[in-house]
Amino acid sequence: MRLRNITGSREVIAASAYVVHEERRWRGKWAQLFENTLPIHIEIGMGKGKFIHTMARLHPEINYIGIEKYSSVLLRAIQKMEEEELPNLRFIRMEAEEITEVFAPGEVDRIYLNFSDPWPKDRHARRRLPSRQFLARYDVILEARGQLEFKTDNRELFDFAVEELAPAGWKLREITRDLHQDAVLMQDNVMTEYEEKFSAMGNPIYKYVIYREK
Ligand code: SAH
Repeated sequence: MRLRNITGSREVIAASAYVVHEERRWRGKWAQLFENTLPIHIEIGMGKGKFIHTMARLHPEINYIGIEKYSSVLLRAIQKMEEEELPNLRFIRMEAEEITEVFAPGEVDRIYLNFSDPWPKDRHARRRLPSRQFLARYDVILEARGQLEFKTDNRELFDFAVEELAPAGWKLREITRDLHQDAVLMQDNVMTEYEEKFSAMGNPIYKYVIYREK
């Protein structure tokens, strides 16, 4: 998602208390930032932050961190927090490739990927957030019993993501190719912005939950 470059969005972000500015400084110390030892769940590529904001409201027993590379989109997430401030939610503006420099080994308890960019060209496969290269990074920061949840309406990206699991050493815990028809998985489903848009167009939503045995 790339919005028109909104004038002043960088300034708003730089001044926002909801954004963690020196994110590498907190590596291994995120509990200190939140001033508690609750589990940490992150969404990589949160966009305007509807999903993670709703999750943080529903789960005060979890600390949430939303990661987004574009200022223009992050700005919308900040505006949501200004309307409804939540103590257990923070944002980072960063490129996900650097994730192991921001979280220490095992520091994250759950990772969410929602409607990640498809990067359809083969030569860009390593940029896809569910690629084996990214799974190797998640493997470092995710706690041994932690899980990763991925949703998309893009069948090619989902098929690719499923094929990446075995070579990267991950296992499927749940999988559906039509989430909105799956009564069990829908029970605690929180819709993302893209999920609302694409399911309204009639697209099935694909989802998996993965883990590794450590
Ligand atoms: N999760 C939201 C937005 C999906 S669009 C939803 O489901 O509605 C994908 C988002 O991921 C975009 O906002 C894009 O800027 C962000 N993104 C893609 N690749 C990224 C990366 N490597 N690092 C950080 N953010 C990324």
